[in-house]
Amino acid sequence: MSKIYLASPHISEQGYEQKFIQEAFDTNWVTSLGENVNQFENEVMKYINIKAAAALSSGTAAIHLGLKALGVEKGDVVFCPTFTFSATANPIIYQNATPVFIDSEPNTWNMSPQALERAFEQYTPKAVIVVHLYGQAAQMDEIMKICAQHNVPILEDAAESLGTTYQGKFTGTFGKYGVFSFNGNKIITTSGGGMLVSDNEKGIEKVKFWATQARDKARHYQHSEIGYNYRMSNVLAGIGRGQLRVLEERIAQKTAIFEMYQNAFQEIDEIVMHQASSKGRCNYWLSVMTLKESSKVKPIDIIEALEKEEIESRPLWKPLHLQPVFETYDFFSHKENEISVAEDIFNRGICLPSDTKNTKEDMERIVKIIRALF
Ligand SMILES: *Cc1c(COP(=O)(O)O)cnc(C)c1O
Repeated sequence: MSKIYLASPHISEQGYEQKFIQEAFDTNWVTSLGENVNQFENEVMKYINIKAAAALSSGTAAIHLGLKALGVEKGDVVFCPTFTFSATANPIIYQNATPVFIDSEPNTWNMSPQALERAFEQYTPKAVIVVHLYGQAAQMDEIMKICAQHNVPILEDAAESLGTTYQGKFTGTFGKYGVFSFNGNKIITTSGGGMLVSDNEKGIEKVKFWATQARDKARHYQHSEIGYNYRMSNVLAGIGRGQLRVLEERIAQKTAIFEMYQNAFQEIDEIVMHQASSKGRCNYWLSVMTLKESSKVKPIDIIEALEKEEIESRPLWKPLHLQPVFETYDFFSHKENEISVAEDIFNRGICLPSDTKNTKEDMERIVKIIRALF
């Protein structure tokens, strides 16, 4: 039996990626500039309908320069969801700013508008980071309304939600800046990479400047600002161009995986599949579920049963306000004086294997092992 992964790179059967990589080699643009970088940016811009994009070395680098473009610096406060990967919050610290963590709400598991409102009563943040976790769009209507009232810009971490829509618009295009990741386990990959997008063309120009060591316009090497080496390689951008051509197919496959689980677990009362919001299309990057409080089977039982059969699954993101490195920062829960929604979901949740290369037999194997536990 071969190993089944949570989500692994899925290169196109048509070989699109190889063709673009070969072009980079043939033209000797084996560097961080070139046609693949330019075209990858253009193609993403066209797909999500936005004016400007900077292809970078990672999603984390994109969050970092997005915060910098919003003017986040030492002493500033940035609101950040607690329920997310640490890479969402780390760049706040890179900028010597202070994160304040916001709880999830129970429907989308993303930022709670209620908690956000209470946080605004105590702080005046420089920026608000919103995350669309597991491909589910956050409640952008409410969140954008609150942020607009306080005149605070949003940076959208759409690392997990490329292709997800909310009321007809792609996630990543709601905030002043949006971030995508092309890490190996994301819905499409460049092996490692990211992108910062915006309708602010000047802002993206500046980001490209910072990302290429902040060289002033002078023949000699002159610098008036601190730069970074954050640009995406032209070879890797070739992988991205190929992968973009199968993104819609991957979303269809991820959706089919979710539906397969949903059907298979229909009559198991303890299992609650994490449903997509009705306000748009979910990319179903990962199929995720929770077990009811009353369930005798716990997430760890499922994870271990699958592991024994060489099948990878994992817990949900551990909330950041509970992480040793972040536990001193302030936190606002969905409902005052109650256990945080994020902590509750974390305790009861599990990410199911969602690899688009899984065969029907693989899926049946996974389902059989889980069903046997109930
Ligand atoms: C993957 C991910 C990132 C980081 O992206 P990298 O490309 O791995 O740096 C940031 N935020 C979220 C929510 C992610 O899932």
